[in-house]
Amino acid sequence: MTVPVDHFIETPPRVPSPVHGFGTLAVHAGSPHDPTTGAVIEPISLSTTFEQTSVGQPVGSYEYSRSSNPNRDNFEKAVAALEHAKYALAFASGSAATATILQSLASGSHVISVSDVYGGTHRYFTRVAKAHGVTVTFTPQIEVDIAEHIRDNTKLIWIESPSNPTLRLVDIPAVVSAAHARGVAVVVDNTFLSPYIQNPLDHGADIVVHSVTKYINGHSDVVMGLAAFNSDEMRERLAFLQNAGGAVPSAFDCWLAHRGVKTLHLRVRQSSLNATAVAKALEASPHVLAVNYPGLDSHPHREIAIRQHRDGMGGGMLSFRIKGGRAAAERFCQLTKIYTLAESLGGIESLVELPSAMTHAGIPKDQREDVGVYDDLVRLSSGIEESDDLVRDVQKALDEAVWETAGANGTDGVNGHA
Ligand SMILES: *Cc1c(COP(=O)(O)O)cnc(C)c1O
Repeated sequence: MTVPVDHFIETPPRVPSPVHGFGTLAVHAGSPHDPTTGAVIEPISLSTTFEQTSVGQPVGSYEYSRSSNPNRDNFEKAVAALEHAKYALAFASGSAATATILQSLASGSHVISVSDVYGGTHRYFTRVAKAHGVTVTFTPQIEVDIAEHIRDNTKLIWIESPSNPTLRLVDIPAVVSAAHARGVAVVVDNTFLSPYIQNPLDHGADIVVHSVTKYINGHSDVVMGLAAFNSDEMRERLAFLQNAGGAVPSAFDCWLAHRGVKTLHLRVRQSSLNATAVAKALEASPHVLAVNYPGLDSHPHREIAIRQHRDGMGGGMLSFRIKGGRAAAERFCQLTKIYTLAESLGGIESLVELPSAMTHAGIPKDQREDVGVYDDLVRLSSGIEESDDLVRDVQKALDEAVWETAGANGTDGVNGHA
């Protein structure tokens, strides 16, 4: 049976309106049914080029796949809807999204960044942007001293909330009002919370960036990045650079990430629930010195979480200091059975890592410790497994790690030593 194309063309486009809730948008935004076959899931459009009927007259809206293609377009529309943005642009990685935003600044521009920014972002700021004449000032307390750091050539403020791996929060509206008073744009890296928990544009930020590699794709099988924003002028500049720089994701990866984002709300809810259960168990454990988790009432910025996060959720990431120093921390990472020892985060599977020796090893020890990254700090990314299993896994590994390392040091094995 052939389906009359007109049937579909006459039907109003199935675009969910912004009044729909997050889950509805996640499933339906940017997901048109195929007008020729009626397929409810978009096909993967691998073609690199698109036919033109006469010179400069493409059949549809596509010409060449680097510039734009159906899968990337649909994925960008989906995430734009979830971030309450007019536009989103996808890149080959989170780092490529960051690099493109920095490349959009004129030589001689100045940027202010939080100190405990993602390691790769720090590396780009200090070792690449500098070569292009863009300088970056880092500050550990941006809400407090932002006004002092703003110069005539300051173009951008870069914040991450929560920070990695100590999960400190930044008051986004406070930074935005100080920045906007001086005509400076604010970028928020929202990777750790995902658009389900936090929408920085609603708090006044100008650009939100994501490592799609983490929660948005969520299945640890795609490396991708994205920037979302509302300004038409910004869209022109960044889309030009997306095409000119060419750091674009493949159509296949866009299709996978789009499939991933359709369950973002379910995954992030479960990850946050699991992280909360684990954080509470850690807080109650005699083997733990401190827990960093914005979902706990003991978190120093808990009141920011209540204002900025959906239902005050803490998200899926936490870190804690184990008793027994580096040795106990290292043993803990090897002893967990469900939490896998690996870098990265935000996937369906739970991961554990030792920031001082892995993700943050490149930062000199004194600088690391200034921002709370001690040798005994362990970072956990809780996946979507069952809470009870994760709590038991952590408790058992804690007991064993502290016992083994305390035994080796000749102490009683319960209280250990810091
Ligand atoms: C992973 C990550 C990045 C970099 O993203 P890639 O996709 O790995 O290039 C940027 N910011 C944060 C917070 C991240 O976790």
